[in-house]
Order: sequence, then structure tokens, then C-alpha cells
Amino acid sequence: MKIVEVDAYMCHYPLPQTFYPTWIPGFPQTRNSCLLLILRTDEGIEGYSAMVGFLDEAKGLISLLRPFLVNRDPFQVEDTLRLLRSALFLGYKGWFPEIALWDIIGKATGQPIYRLLGGGADRILAYASTGELHPPEQRADEVLKLEEMGFQAVKLRLKAMQVKEDIALVETVRQAVGDKMEIMVDANQGWPIHGFGPYPHWDLKRAMNEARAFEELKVRWLEEPLYKHDYEGYAQLRAATSVPLAGGEFNTDLHEFRDLITRHCLDVIQPDVTLSTGILNGKKVAGMAEAYNLEFSPHTWTNGLGLAANLQLMASVPNCHYCEFPYEPPGWIPEARDFMLTKPFQIDSEGYIKVPDKPGLGVELDLEKIKSCGEKL
Ligand SMILES: [Mg+2]
Repeated sequence: MKIVEVDAYMCHYPLPQTFYPTWIPGFPQTRNSCLLLILRTDEGIEGYSAMVGFLDEAKGLISLLRPFLVNRDPFQVEDTLRLLRSALFLGYKGWFPEIALWDIIGKATGQPIYRLLGGGADRILAYASTGELHPPEQRADEVLKLEEMGFQAVKLRLKAMQVKEDIALVETVRQAVGDKMEIMVDANQGWPIHGFGPYPHWDLKRAMNEARAFEELKVRWLEEPLYKHDYEGYAQLRAATSVPLAGGEFNTDLHEFRDLITRHCLDVIQPDVTLSTGILNGKKVAGMAEAYNLEFSPHTWTNGLGLAANLQLMASVPNCHYCEFPYEPPGWIPEARDFMLTKPFQIDSEGYIKVPDKPGLGVELDLEKIKSCGEKL
């Protein structure tokens, strides 16, 4: 079997309401933007993937990728990963085309990807990953609503300028939910986006002060308190607090994760298969984490196809306990997040997300919606 066509759409799907992501401070997001990839084989099998977009920066990427992918055997994943690493040297980021290979392999063999990788989980506990900074009382009310929906865990964003405001937010939510929910917090200091609005800069001392306060508040993990390559700072912080540290969403490839793990930086390893590793190397990172008795909990905040791909990897490993479920109504809701899928992902009444058990990624594309907001490249 070989890949004979590389189709791509640059999509900008309008959100039902403007969304203000804390990781781009001051930026009003009005669209779900992504580069959608369809690899077609000579046997008529299609494999899907998507890379998160900002503006139209991915348009040039597809002309770089096309000659790298055409005529390749989709089962040759190891070889294709080396090729994608080479393309990365030429100036693009992302391992997302490898996911489409696995979608093809799954469809050709009639198996969901997680089964091909040796896994067996049919559902994973979700945590509601919020994306905006809201006043503490408002956020507490919203978290109570999440609990009514079935969520057993929530992630809050820490983007206040003052330490005491961050702590007040977590305190207020903890008081509202008691011990009924796990609370994760994310400082998003790993890859600051500069230029749209003011944002706090964390140093090691601030991270230590916040972490100590979170110990009493029983925070499940503190995510990205420092820059993504500050291995030394992470190791010092981890030694100084009992709050588990999480990170890795914008770290890439095997060597960066090797260093994060062997230098004792983190308790929870969070590669995203579309941004960091691809699926096969994500599985290898999960194995390194397992050997160090660490939790593995991939980042998923890109779009529905990214969530689908990370979910397959999560279901294939023994050390993943939580799936990030990006959710911040009314702007970022499953229907807009997963617009490219015929069926958006939802949680069940106990707060779990079902792992699709159809071949490959187990999802179908809504081509009408893709074409309504996408430019074919
Ligand atoms: Mg994060």
C-alpha cells in the first residue's frame, strides 16, 4: 500500500461566541483554526489528522509536506517519523501527519489504534479544562455546574498578576466543591505568547509560593509553572513541594522528554501527539514515564481530531488516569471544538469520555462543514 494523494484544508470555523484564551493574553479568539490533512492510499483508504492553526501560517507547510508523503507506505511509521523530523529541521512544527498513518493502519487492519498499541481502556476519566480567567465567585458557580454535568475534575487557569489572586481563585473553587472534585491548575508559563496584552511572568520563587499554597488546597497538579526548557528550575521546584508538577505540551521529540524525565522535572508527563511526538513516539514517552513511575496525561487542547488522536494513545498505556476535555462555554464548546467530526466528543454522566472503538481513530469527517469554512490547499 502507498500514499497517493495529500489533501489539505485550511479551516477557520466561527465560534458561537468570542473566546479569550488565557495562553494568548489579550487576544479575542473568534475562530477554531486548523490545517486538516487527508492522506489517501492506492487502496482507497483515507487517514485523517489536523494541526492547530492561528492565522494562515500552515498554508506553506502543506507544500513542504506533500513531496515528503506521496508514494510512502503508511505502515512504515518509524521511517516516516524520521522523515517528519527532517521536515521539522526545514522549518515547521508538528508531528500531526503521522497520526493519519495510524488512521490508515487501523482502517486497513480493522482495529482501533489503541488496540494495535496493546491497550484496552474503553473509557477514560475526563477533566473539564477551562480556558478563560473568570472572577472567583463566577468560576465557583461554573465549576458547580460542571459537577452537575458529571465531571469529577476541573482545571483552572492561573493568569492573575498577583499571587494572592491566583490563590483566592483556587480557594474559592475548593470551598464551593469541597472534596467532591479534583482541581488541577495551569499557569501556562511554558511558551508565553507576547504582544497582545499584559500577563504575569513566573519565576522560581513565585512558583514555590504558589505551590506551597496549593498543597493545603489539595491541588491535583500544577501545570507549566516555568518555561518549557527550565529543567533546572523544575527539578528544584519539584523537590520543594508535594504538589505534583505537570508539563510537556510544547516540548518535542524523544530527547526533550528524556531530559524532563531523567532530570526529575515532572510528576505528570503531557506530550500532545499533534504538537510533540506523534502517536508512536508518544507511546515511547509513556513507556519512559512508566519506568520512572510517572503519570502520563497528554495535552489535547487543539481540536476534535487532536483530541481523538491523543485519546487513542491514552487508551493504549497503563499510566494515564485523566483525559483533558477542553470546555469553556459559550465560546469553546464540543460542537465548535470538534466541528470537523460528524459527532462531537461528549462525556457520560459519570464524567468519562468513551474511546472510539471503530477502526483507526474511529471518527468520521463532516466534509460539508469542513468545506464551508475551509480553503483547499
Ligand atoms: Mg496546559
